[in-house]
Amino acid sequence: MTNKQTLHIETLLAQAGNRTDDEKTGAISAPIYLSTAYRHAGLGQSTGFDYPREAQPTRCVLEATLAKLEEGVAAFALSSGMAAIQLVFTLFKSGDKIIVSDDLYGGSYRFFDLLHDHYQLDFAVWDGQDQAALAQLIDAKTVALWLETPSNPTMKVIDIAATAVTTHAHHIKLIVDNTFYTPLIQKPLTLGADIVVHSATKYLAGHNDILAGAVIAKQQTDADQLEFNLVTTGAVLDPFDAWLLLRSLKTLPLRMWQHEANAKVLVQALQSNPHVDKVLYPGRGGMISFYLADGVDVDKFLQALTVISFAESLGGVESLVTVPAVQTHADLSEAARAAKGITPNLLRLSTGIEAAVDLQADLTQALTKAAQ
Ligand SMILES: *Cc1c(COP(=O)(O)O)cnc(C)c1O
Repeated sequence: MTNKQTLHIETLLAQAGNRTDDEKTGAISAPIYLSTAYRHAGLGQSTGFDYPREAQPTRCVLEATLAKLEEGVAAFALSSGMAAIQLVFTLFKSGDKIIVSDDLYGGSYRFFDLLHDHYQLDFAVWDGQDQAALAQLIDAKTVALWLETPSNPTMKVIDIAATAVTTHAHHIKLIVDNTFYTPLIQKPLTLGADIVVHSATKYLAGHNDILAGAVIAKQQTDADQLEFNLVTTGAVLDPFDAWLLLRSLKTLPLRMWQHEANAKVLVQALQSNPHVDKVLYPGRGGMISFYLADGVDVDKFLQALTVISFAESLGGVESLVTVPAVQTHADLSEAARAAKGITPNLLRLSTGIEAAVDLQADLTQALTKAAQ
């Protein structure tokens, strides 16, 4: 019997769900259990499954895999990334102050505004770079730092390990949205973070066909509270999507390395294209942002693409391009967008796993047409 903890991430993922139904069937692919009720043999007896909001067999297999993947003590699979973010915020109460990094997913801003306006949580913004400035922002009411790295859409990188030193010194929680890099590239919990959040809709699912979220905790006390709050609030992932996400995770390493290899080819091509002003790439992963040069028409460019699709998501095998100013970050004021560099000519490209030469040719021909 091998100890699965010592196995490499590729092996853990390829084997995810195997040997979880050995007593009954020996199924290699973990079965989907749809039952919402579980018979008890007698008073005080349970198979461990009583009601699916609490625990559900297919979701349990997925959650065990997610916990191993991020090296946490427990993971929770939710119905969307936003549901995952909302669950983490059930740890906090009115009057608490949360510091957030300054370039976040647009939906996170929208949610933090709601928490501020309706639930009296306080927020402060940190640039993600200056540790002394972070320490200055922390006061007696501060309970956590929330960050995304690389940032969205301007691809700024935050040093998680250095930041964790500051948050630990001040006894506040460090929470990282790890959607963009995934644990293949960075494991925040091993760098000192306390909680990791994912929009599993993106790379973890990877095929533009599942809406899902995940929360992974490093400490048992956080895990216990999150579990209680999730059972109480109920936005769990359903059995079909839990199975589909588990299936998707098996190929995460293959996909991630192809996303990254393709992105590196496209970064080079974009940097040397005269119709592109500037390329933002954090050095790893599949996400690229770039500014079209003056006089290049955004709409013409989008309409000229024949392989890459104009659509608002990321992390899937199909390449997608978004215009953050009018899509993911449309809820920010124009001034707030301008301050962050989210101008109308900024595009965000989620590099898929197609042949890099096809993607490069598609970008090149579309840029040429858009510049005419
Ligand atoms: C998409 C996304 C979210 C929200 O997740 P949903 O699955 O759409 O609810 C949160 N954070 C980041 C970084 C995202 O890209």
